[in-house]
Amino acid sequence: MARKKKFKNNAGVQILVGIVVFIAIVFLGNLHDTNLLDSLSDVVETDSLENVDNSDNNSTVVTNVDGDLIIDYIDVGQADSILIRQGDAAMLIDGGTSECRDDLLTFLSDKNIDKFEYIIGTHTHEDHIGSLDDVVNSYDFDTFLFPNTTATTKTFENLVLAVQQKNKKFTVPQVGQEYSLGEARFQILAPNSDEYSSANNYSIVIKLTYGSNTFLFTGDAESLSEQEILDTGFDVNADVLKIGHHGSTTSTSKEFLDKVSPKFAVISVGENNSYNLPTKTTMEKLQEKNIPVYRTDEQGTIECISDGTNITFNVNPGSYAYMED
Ligand SMILES: [Zn+2]
Repeated sequence: MARKKKFKNNAGVQILVGIVVFIAIVFLGNLHDTNLLDSLSDVVETDSLENVDNSDNNSTVVTNVDGDLIIDYIDVGQADSILIRQGDAAMLIDGGTSECRDDLLTFLSDKNIDKFEYIIGTHTHEDHIGSLDDVVNSYDFDTFLFPNTTATTKTFENLVLAVQQKNKKFTVPQVGQEYSLGEARFQILAPNSDEYSSANNYSIVIKLTYGSNTFLFTGDAESLSEQEILDTGFDVNADVLKIGHHGSTTSTSKEFLDKVSPKFAVISVGENNSYNLPTKTTMEKLQEKNIPVYRTDEQGTIECISDGTNITFNVNPGSYAYMED
């Protein structure tokens, strides 16, 4: 009888343990989902709009600059990553793929970066945010600018969790907003819509001004976003244009290139990449206008220095060679 009772008790314990394990699995599963949902909604804040003046958007620019602005278009293969430094201030636009993380962190470490005033993730694609989680884990930063969009990828989730673990949020900038980077200033030009069918068009586009020199950073913004930027009426003219979307036909429309009218162009593109970039269409547009093109597949990392008046590059321009469209 006692034995039978003991057996019954064991069965009871087993059932009880089973129920507890089941509840734990369900609870933890929900907890994980809840955490992720919370992190996506809690990790975003919208910045307040200030200093917006379409008619005279150079009014707040420091004209008597002291020292250099140094821009490194880092060779991260078929991807984008750009380091901008002025005085003690530093900004990183995009962080390449996850494959390049060791190279990127070594590059940043060699530059003795203390912290970033800004990190910009232009949009959710892996070739732009792939290693930014490691950058966030390795460096302090003041402001992380990110467009108001999400992705269901592991890469994006890793970035969100990294930002959250620093008790930080993504700051969604508004078009027209201006920020200071040392004595340089930059203004947000895009994205201008709330929803796009192509993730590329969520790309944060900025125009940076240092003294009388100007630089446009376009992420992977396509012709649609380029047209929206032109429609805003902001002055897009720039000395140096980072060509959109690695030289793809989707970007660098004739109208946009005419208005930007750059003295120099930079293309971040992987050697022998499988996307056939840069394209004939884009390279011929640049060649027609005799715009010198610096490209990471030919020159590696490209360092561009401005003293506020003159712009110099550490390498000679590359070729107008293209892959087939
Ligand atoms: Zn890209």
